[in-house]
Amino acid sequence: MGFQELGLNDKVLRSIAEAGYEEPTPIQKQAIPYVLKGRDVVACAQTGTGKTASFTLPMIDILSRGRARARMPRSLVLSPTRELATQIAEDFKIYGKHCKLSMALLIGGVSYAEQDAKLSKGVDVLIATPGRLLDHFQLGKLLLSGIDVFVIDEADRMLDMGFIPDIERIAKLLTKKHQTLLFSATMPVPVRKLAEKFLKNPEHITITPAQKTGKNIEQYIVEISKNPKARQDALLKILKDENPKNAIVFCNRKRDIANVTKALKNAGYFAEELHGDMDQRMRQATYDRFKDNQIRVLVASDVAARGLDVDALSHVINYDVPMNEDDYIHRIGRTGRAGLSGRAFTLASPLDTKALQVIKQHVEQDIQIYKPTSGKISASQERKAPKSHKTPPKVSKSQNSENSGVKGFGEDVPSFFESTVLDKKSG
Ligand code: AMP
Repeated sequence: MGFQELGLNDKVLRSIAEAGYEEPTPIQKQAIPYVLKGRDVVACAQTGTGKTASFTLPMIDILSRGRARARMPRSLVLSPTRELATQIAEDFKIYGKHCKLSMALLIGGVSYAEQDAKLSKGVDVLIATPGRLLDHFQLGKLLLSGIDVFVIDEADRMLDMGFIPDIERIAKLLTKKHQTLLFSATMPVPVRKLAEKFLKNPEHITITPAQKTGKNIEQYIVEISKNPKARQDALLKILKDENPKNAIVFCNRKRDIANVTKALKNAGYFAEELHGDMDQRMRQATYDRFKDNQIRVLVASDVAARGLDVDALSHVINYDVPMNEDDYIHRIGRTGRAGLSGRAFTLASPLDTKALQVIKQHVEQDIQIYKPTSGKISASQERKAPKSHKTPPKVSKSQNSENSGVKGFGEDVPSFFESTVLDKKSG
């Protein structure tokens, strides 16, 4: 089934062709016809499946009929993070460029006056984080009674961030006649309840239920010792061995972000930080430079795990094991997007065993032990590693430049890094 058969208008089809998309992705094939029919939809789809276009494309089609009124947006997309909201806005611009639609982005870190000016002119599409939307509403700058299409994106993340009460408040401000689309990578009970409460006879769509992380992502666990130095040394070693085109390194703690960035810079990499304490302009500027390949390694908090859409990101490295399985899925989902291959590494010491176990059960996919070509490996690794990975894992042709070999980070080789002199590498 091609895009032509989904019922989208010619202007939208033109934008799709210009974006270079040849085939709709499974979520697009399933969701677009229902959205165009005005149905409510609950879609369980992971990031990287093309889910954003599955709601933006039909919305543009629907909204191209009709006109915006001052302070009464016609559609609302709620996003958990500023980054994701910004990404959605960019997608709307790309897909909607032949349909004169107006748009406002209401996110924190940007002046109210600028956002207010847009609202006063009237917008077809309002993309917002819940807090900033409610701020504008409470200031009397916004009426939500004109919303025809309401989208809740990454609902599970909204739950993690404590936004469900805000979403319920917002949903109650809409009129009865609107259509609601809810997207979530996972469906925890509170998200399901939210859907039951606010959606009318929704169509349920589930994409890749048995495999929650993209199958074109090769996932590895890098076993490190408890030695405090081991983590940073292992990171430098992976970067040296993998020589990634570009990489995001996720840290659980902010102080690690600063330390790791410093260490990478000292090692000669073009590395920068990205985290929630930076103001929105700084975050956007850093993000833009990363997308533009001016930054090679982005050291980030989970703020970057949602919404960052970098073309052909080759590597994700979890400096720490993520706090929960959803964060793992979202972090590694920054790579292996749009059919490209990607590689994801998670550094884990014996102290991380429990957290890692939860993730392994949740992703229902093979996470291999990063296997060295030289150096000692622990007996436990030999047992766990599948036969087919006795040789070093292959580097994906599409995204890696060259692989300089793989070394071991086994628990029984704690002195490996201490005794290895790492070459400096330009970023
Ligand atoms: P998403 O899951 O919305 O974050 O999208 C992941 C990536 O897939 C984005 O970079 C989109 O530009 C891209 N994409 C979306 N739909 C298609 C398609 N039909 N064909 C190729 N790439 C697509």
